[in-house]
Amino acid sequence: MTKLYDNVDHLDTNAYVAYTVEMDVMVVGAGNAGMEAAAAAKEAGASTILIEKEKTINMMRVGLASVGSRAQKAAGVTINKQELVESLAAFAQHNVDQRLLETWADNSGATLDWLEEKRSSSHMVPTSELKLMPW
Ligand SMILES: Cc1cc2nc3c(=O)[nH]c(=O)nc-3n(C[C@H](O)[C@H](O)[C@H](O)COP(=O)(O)OP(=O)(O)OC[C@H]3O[C@@H](n4cnc5c(N)ncnc54)[C@H](O)[C@@H]3O)c2cc1C
Repeated sequence: MTKLYDNVDHLDTNAYVAYTVEMDVMVVGAGNAGMEAAAAAKEAGASTILIEKEKTINMMRVGLASVGSRAQKAAGVTINKQELVESLAAFAQHNVDQRLLETWADNSGATLDWLEEKRSSSHMVPTSELKLMPW
């Protein structure tokens, strides 16, 4: 069976173009990351288009974890970054690139501060407890 892109050199791409728009930034996927990326690009002054393949947008999120956010500091929550990274890696049975966890631990606090500043409807309620989610 011939797939759509088997003969990509001979593909008449114009046949699949419904309409054309000129934009500075195109974000593919309106998930958690894409929604924020598109909002940030727009806020920075770029003309932006966000495309999503599904008919609805589902932002799966109940809580957001961070290390050292302003809300945590104000509530007196202190977290040992190295201990947390090591316990998360152990939880994943070390089937994880620990550098990714370290990058998250180093940047998650500032990211949540940014989110709270930019989204006036956001209000962070800090907790040091890891609550078990229903799934
Ligand atoms: C039930 C549930 C609860 C969760 N709760 C939490 C929580 O409390 N806290 C937390 O931090 N995380 C939570 N997560 C995890 C979190 O939802 C994911 O880590 C997060 O959604 C990943 O975001 P993303 O933007 O990278 O990907 P996604 O949210 O998966 O977004 C990707 C988007 O791209 C679209 N897409 C893919 N391919 C194309 C294409 N070719 N063209 C156009 N669109 C495309 C997809 O349809 C999708 O909308 C939860 C997950 C689930 C399932």
